[in-house]
Amino acid sequence: MTLPKTADIIIIGGGVMGASTLYHLAAGGQKNVILLEQEDVFGSGATGRCAGGVRYQFSTEINVRLSLESLPMIERFKEEIGQDVNYRQCGYLLVATNERDAETFKRNVELQNRLGVKTELLSGDEVRRRLPLMKFEDALAGTFHQKDGLVDPNSVVMGYISAAGRLGAKAFSGASVTGIRVEEGNVRGVETASGSVEAPIIVNAAGPWAGRIGEMAGVPIPIQPVRRQMFTTNAMPMIPSDFPFVIDFAQSLYFHREGEGLLVGMSNQNEKAGFDQNVDEEFEMVNFEAGMTRLPLLEYAQRASHWAGLYEITPDAHPIYGKTPVEGFFIVGGFSGHGFMHGPVSGKLMAEYLLDGKFQTLDVSVLDFERFAEGRLIKEYNVV
Ligand SMILES: Cc1cc2nc3c(=O)[nH]c(=O)nc-3n(C[C@H](O)[C@H](O)[C@H](O)COP(=O)(O)OP(=O)(O)OC[C@H]3O[C@@H](n4cnc5c(N)ncnc54)[C@H](O)[C@@H]3O)c2cc1C
Repeated sequence: MTLPKTADIIIIGGGVMGASTLYHLAAGGQKNVILLEQEDVFGSGATGRCAGGVRYQFSTEINVRLSLESLPMIERFKEEIGQDVNYRQCGYLLVATNERDAETFKRNVELQNRLGVKTELLSGDEVRRRLPLMKFEDALAGTFHQKDGLVDPNSVVMGYISAAGRLGAKAFSGASVTGIRVEEGNVRGVETASGSVEAPIIVNAAGPWAGRIGEMAGVPIPIQPVRRQMFTTNAMPMIPSDFPFVIDFAQSLYFHREGEGLLVGMSNQNEKAGFDQNVDEEFEMVNFEAGMTRLPLLEYAQRASHWAGLYEITPDAHPIYGKTPVEGFFIVGGFSGHGFMHGPVSGKLMAEYLLDGKFQTLDVSVLDFERFAEGRLIKEYNVV
């Protein structure tokens, strides 16, 4: 592989954030931008391992607003980017089984409705009526929004990489960044196994690895990698085609249709930060048992596949956009397990920030890097 010796902008990371940023920079007229991805295949980090869920249902205004910008971009993806991303609007049905969650759901629905998202608040009985195959005797409330759903992550990444290529921007896979050169507080370029590339602007879009990239530039970034895993089943013909993305909120246990079968995942609340991406077989049993208790039909299903990936967790479960203390070193990351859906708008926002000097589509300046040092955290409740 021959990398250029210089570029105006280098993006590190070829997941949804890097790919979307690359495309939007190229679409904004910046052609001398390159993306470097360490793996042989783009999108093989968190993006390619994610559940593909997209939703408007969040508990903070900024997250709902990010969805209000990003999900319509996914709806228009084929038309604008030229790639089908298989958006299935099966709806998300979040189920509350304790008073605290039920109360919070009520407030969340009020917020979402106020912002124009037509989420419905459901009673426990309504949850049971909508999910006849599931056992939710303890459901106290639920929320449902029909336009939430599922999208194919790899198609989004490859759609952006190909469209950026058509506009003249270049993305390199198998290009691991091993060092970042900083002189007098300014970035100068990156080191890779295939040589160095000079650039005055570097964007850290390394997802769960963003902290490592930060260390290379001498910037401590509060993003922790935390393993999450899921399994899929073989065909389950009893599951209706309009089965929603169901979340048993208190257990962080979720189900959605995957091909002819189901995908079942659960977040291990005791998982320690680390880069291990092997499936924890013991926890898979916990996930399977919990899944079967809610959906007894699972007893007759066979596991078709399973995998693990890394969430990129920040202290307030919100992303970080923009500049860092090193001049020319920018970040878009820390989406805390729900970033795939915000990838389209986040790349657009980063391109605006780099090209125009400010976020135009949506003011995300509250999600700056400095908020951690300054104690301006914004907690998101709807983390699964
Ligand atoms: C199991 C699981 C389920 C999830 N489910 C959902 C969901 O349903 N909906 C949703 O919206 N989000 C979900 N997420 C979260 C979502 O996947 C992430 O928020 C999003 O993909 C982050 O994108 P990214 O581009 O920042 O990171 P990544 O996709 O990880 O991309 C970063 C890239 O940087 C590369 N990289 C790292 N170091 C270097 C280096 N030194 N040199 C070059 N390249 C480097 C990596 O190889 C990687 O490809 C889930 C995540 C996981 C793990």
